[in-house]
Amino acid sequence: AITISAVKFATGGANLAASLPRIVRLLSEQEQRYGEFAGDSYVCLFHGATGGMEYANATTTSESALRHEVIHSWFARGLTPASQADGWWDEGFATYLDTGERCEWLDFRAPPVELCSRRTFQRTTARRSYEAGSRVFRGIAAVIGPERLLDAMRELYTAQRGASVSTPALEAHLVASTRAVELVDVFHRFVYGFDDRVPGPRLRVEALDAHPLGLTGSVRVRVANDGGDRCRHFVVVITAERHEAIAAVAGFELAPGRSQTMSLRWLRDHEPPAHERLIASVYERGSDAG
Ligand SMILES: [Zn+2]
Repeated sequence: AITISAVKFATGGANLAASLPRIVRLLSEQEQRYGEFAGDSYVCLFHGATGGMEYANATTTSESALRHEVIHSWFARGLTPASQADGWWDEGFATYLDTGERCEWLDFRAPPVELCSRRTFQRTTARRSYEAGSRVFRGIAAVIGPERLLDAMRELYTAQRGASVSTPALEAHLVASTRAVELVDVFHRFVYGFDDRVPGPRLRVEALDAHPLGLTGSVRVRVANDGGDRCRHFVVVITAERHEAIAAVAGFELAPGRSQTMSLRWLRDHEPPAHERLIASVYERGSDAG
């Protein structure tokens, strides 16, 4: 059971009698969609201003921002962005959910957009997280469909509840969970803000652990750049024989002639049978399977 309280200032205009059942509805709506609420109480202060702010099991909000703030109990507080540079994804996803989960194809002729700087010492959430961030999720929904996006985010929430999720981890999860490697292009241009390189890097991947891959819960691969240009961003995917992606990891900044060793963990419940042959592939912007 969850204890829900709603309060306002004596002079505040919010309608508490109508708001309490609305909060109950909103909480159970998200619970059905994404999994169990992370706390045992929820406190809502109607602050008499516009907008809102989410906290752990609580919000200070206006009535109009309430749904957005409740959604943050799953995406922002249930799963937390790993750093301020990752703060775009919870705002982008909450905005996407609260504005009708529409599909919108991204325009790859448009200039790149940086939502995630990957800078450790960034201390503010990028202002464009809401609009450009929700556009990324509408673009992902256009590629894989809103239902598969919802399934993948539910899977992420149930597997990682209480943990923090970085942007590369989110990308790797979406690619592994949906097998849609086109999402590498989406993250490349509209999340990390990278442009396309001509002629571009040339990547090669080899598995380092000979066998049996299934027993360790993870696999190590080496990715080498044989091309003449730096690779700014790539994703390694491990696929089982029955063509199911079971693990993915994102990498960055691989100079020509250099290689990088990476470790991939299986998605929960996606452990391959020990005898199954596994295929490692690496994807960069615009690449076919490599
Ligand atoms: Zn928000």
